[in-house]
Amino acid sequence: MLPAYSGSSPHDDPKAGRTLSTRLDHRNPLVFDTHELGRRPGALQRISRTVDAPRDLGVAGVIGVPEGAPVEIELRLESVMEGVLVTGTARASAEGECVRCLEPVELELDADFQEMFSYPDSDDRGRSKAVADDEAEDDESMIPLEDGMFDLEPVLRDAVVLALPMQPVCREGCAGLCAECGTNLNENPDHHHDAVDIRWAALQGLAGSLGTDEKDNMSDAASGVDEKQEK
Ligand SMILES: [Zn+2]
Ligand SMILES: [Zn+2]
Repeated sequence: MLPAYSGSSPHDDPKAGRTLSTRLDHRNPLVFDTHELGRRPGALQRISRTVDAPRDLGVAGVIGVPEGAPVEIELRLESVMEGVLVTGTARASAEGECVRCLEPVELELDADFQEMFSYPDSDDRGRSKAVADDEAEDDESMIPLEDGMFDLEPVLRDAVVLALPMQPVCREGCAGLCAECGTNLNENPDHHHDAVDIRWAALQGLAGSLGTDEKDNMSDAASGVDEKQEK
């Protein structure tokens, strides 16, 4: 019989038991330890920690928290029958680019999350098969605790991506860039082009060539151009 979740510190574990590559590193600031919380259902613990943002925290190429930027994390750990229910908030500054005018965008991010981390032995409890089947879907979404520790990084990543806008804009109603020349229309609200769009001019030319009256003029003009180019 395995000893119940012993109160022994992780340092008592034989080194042989730490060879698995999946073992979490308690020195990683995004790894949290639930030993202090204990396994008595209802026990609560609050943790505040500011960590350096891991790489690629955000929507790739659109907006995200720069690597190493501070992320303030507030956690509420609650001991429940199956494991530890973690509810929390992450605050950080995200940086990106306005999708309309390409100017830099910075926004304060406030991401909420909740995740259930299960005791690895919780499946061994005497639950009826019917109940187990009903909850099979939920069970799959539960992340097992490892050595009483959990890695918040994937949870944080999902929460941050959900909280970020997929199409960040520098301001509501950003006018964007001129489709023809790329001028920033926020800075030049009166900007416009007097010249007729070249595609529109081509259509006008086509319409003209279909008209019998203008046909001669058009061909004259065309031959005139041809002569000039030949010289
Ligand atoms: Zn903009
Ligand atoms: Zn323009």
